[in-house]
Amino acid sequence: MTMKYPFVENTLGKKLQIGSGLSVDCMTCNRHVKLDVQALVDRLGEDHGCLHWDLITVLFCQPCRDAGRPDRTLVFTNYSRTPEQRR
Ligand SMILES: [Zn+2]
Repeated sequence: MTMKYPFVENTLGKKLQIGSGLSVDCMTCNRHVKLDVQALVDRLGEDHGCLHWDLITVLFCQPCRDAGRPDRTLVFTNYSRTPEQRR
């Protein structure tokens, strides 16, 4: 359920403001994790990009890393709240 917005939601701060979500799938172990955008902002700053190439540099799959498997075969999914929940 991805939706298009009339503006570019290209930083974590914008995502937080909009209240949209972000999840990640690991293609190695098929793990699916919903990311905490607030926690990412706290860690990386609100100006950090939220696009694939911004996130792939800072995130990895911990279980795969622990197991010595490829840990950055990640696919990020942006999803939104329903329009009623937006301003
Ligand atoms: Zn994994």
